[in-house]
Amino acid sequence: LKTIYDTDPEVAKAMEDELNRQRNKIELIASENFVSPAVMAAAGSHLTNKYAEGYPGKRYYGGCEYVDVVEDLARERAKTLFGAEHANVQPHSGAQANLAVYFALLNPGDTILGMNLSHGGHLTHGSPVNLSGKYYNIVSYGVRRDTGYIDYDEVRRLALEHKPKLIVAGASAYPRIIEFDKFRNIADESGAYLMVDMAHIAGLVATGLHPNPVPYADVVTTTTHKTLRGPRSGMILCKKDLAAAIDKAIFPGTQGGPLMHIIAAKAVCFKEAATPSFKEYQKQIIINAAAMADALMQRGFQLVSGGTDNHLMLIDLHNKGITGKYAEERLDSIGITVNKNAVPFDTEKPFITSGMRIGTPAVTSRGMKETQMSEIADIIAEALSDDNADLGVLKARVSALCAQFPLYEDVVVK
Ligand code: PLP
Repeated sequence: LKTIYDTDPEVAKAMEDELNRQRNKIELIASENFVSPAVMAAAGSHLTNKYAEGYPGKRYYGGCEYVDVVEDLARERAKTLFGAEHANVQPHSGAQANLAVYFALLNPGDTILGMNLSHGGHLTHGSPVNLSGKYYNIVSYGVRRDTGYIDYDEVRRLALEHKPKLIVAGASAYPRIIEFDKFRNIADESGAYLMVDMAHIAGLVATGLHPNPVPYADVVTTTTHKTLRGPRSGMILCKKDLAAAIDKAIFPGTQGGPLMHIIAAKAVCFKEAATPSFKEYQKQIIINAAAMADALMQRGFQLVSGGTDNHLMLIDLHNKGITGKYAEERLDSIGITVNKNAVPFDTEKPFITSGMRIGTPAVTSRGMKETQMSEIADIIAEALSDDNADLGVLKARVSALCAQFPLYEDVVVK
């Protein structure tokens, strides 16, 4: 930051404020995390200067011999980490990765069977406001009203009825294990390709703590910045027979030059993800989520599906008589960051919602454990259950927790 202050104090000041926000608030957004200093350094490096359209060994620009090394390392590490035959590490984001897969496998008007956004799916899985929903014919499946688990019978029924060309499994707000073997069987029975978007659970998959979709899916997409704790970016894994089509769909199909600094950061992230300490970290994410879920349920909160198997939980606020929007704003005022989220069969508008999503990857990166989860749940319960709660006292409890688990202490500000 010091260098930025010297050149551009306005941007530097906003960056400093954001650093302090990250340091002094409790981050419970399930899709966020804190990268390591090595990932951060690679992402902020001189590799941003290099144009490298094409792929290692086949570039449209000269001077690519060293960035080729970086991209090869990233690709090989990704393949080893997830047991994949082919990796494309160039997607700029998760949405770009998904778009490229559709471009590679489908024609406009083809049918995609994806998870309903309001049941936990992602915008890019067929929402009417997203390109996926505008260019393709979308059929959506959801979770069962009585259990909150994916309704695999419905997935099968819809697949046999609509004969989609592509079935998309994967979610942004689903707290349970996804059974990829069931999706594979349904795809085989209905003659569809299967794409798994493992963005949220990639870190759990990399460490064997969630079933790996790679053996079951034709194509797997992911972001690299959620549980995987890499830079903000995307990736596609696939079988060898689809490799050429996927590579072509990224470049020249939907992107230009790759972001070589981000690919370097992805390579570093994949190396970190293969270490024993990363596995311990992922285990603790799950332990922390279970501890938080239990503590919230003890305090009268209702969780969709009655708990969690992974890094996140979805809280249905109906019985508390409050909306997701209110919960998000009230918690923000005491230094706890969550996001409002639709719950299955929600009747509130997307900007209001009846639920909130909570995830433990970021607080676990700070070193917090079960004791702190219980303290955070207690603070949340007091803030949301009692209109007259002393917000100053709750804010002080948040500050005390943050002070106990410092973040990015080595960053030089001025
Ligand atoms: N897929 C899933 C399941 C996601 O949850 C997200 C982001 O939240 C994305 C894709 C999109 O990723 P990005 O924001 O990098 O485009």
